[in-house]
Amino acid sequence: MSGCQPSDVPKAASTQGRQGGGPLDANSDLIRDLVSANHILFDQGVLDAFGHVTVRDPHDSQHFLMCRNMAPALVSAEDIMRFRLDGTPVNAEGRKVYLERFIHGEIYKARPDVMAVVHSHSPSVVPFSVVRASPLRAICHMAAFIGMGAPVFEIRDTAGDGSSLLVTDNRLGAALARTLADSQLVLMRGHGSTVVADGLKKVVYRAVYAEVNARTQLQASRLGTITFLSPAETQTAMEAVESQVARAWDLWQKKAELAVSQYK
Ligand code: MN
Repeated sequence: MSGCQPSDVPKAASTQGRQGGGPLDANSDLIRDLVSANHILFDQGVLDAFGHVTVRDPHDSQHFLMCRNMAPALVSAEDIMRFRLDGTPVNAEGRKVYLERFIHGEIYKARPDVMAVVHSHSPSVVPFSVVRASPLRAICHMAAFIGMGAPVFEIRDTAGDGSSLLVTDNRLGAALARTLADSQLVLMRGHGSTVVADGLKKVVYRAVYAEVNARTQLQASRLGTITFLSPAETQTAMEAVESQVARAWDLWQKKAELAVSQYK
């Protein structure tokens, strides 16, 4: 499937004034939050030098925002760039972009409900991407969004053997989005995971708790048979807990800004 259909090209009216890479004042709150999201995900151990977080432009669903190719802890507002859903930067101005930006664009294309995406290699999640017999499931209320078992993307099904395991084009991104389907989290075999949500604060929360759930599930599996959340519990707990994500965001943001100030 090509990711370069004419429908991907944003309407001229919605991008005029931005094509030259001018300021994105209309979304300055969003840019501030995206900078914070980068810092939080670094401080919480979800992103290190690698991985990325994006947000869809709420005023233009055919665009998303993402920082240039750099370590998330070091991101500031001037590093935020605008992309079309096919992964083309609108205001590159010579800046390098992430190889795996197609993860984000193809998920935004496939899932109109998704407003923010985190792709990471958070270490406790990776084991569940390589052992089919042990699916990652919601083990506690805080990670109810994982549901009854996260789908696993097998890149060999699309790219064949010998790939870099990286999602470096629209075809691979679309295949990943198909595996994600209606879930909130997709594991990527031998690589990492991608989590989605209808907002930036919620996707940061989910990325942190995907790692917590994986760690907890690994620990519990050593003790014996696990009682996971039931389908009904995952639904009720997800709605109850995720109404509270702003509390975590406020705390994590303060902690992260203290942490990243050491790198300035
Ligand atoms: Mn990756």
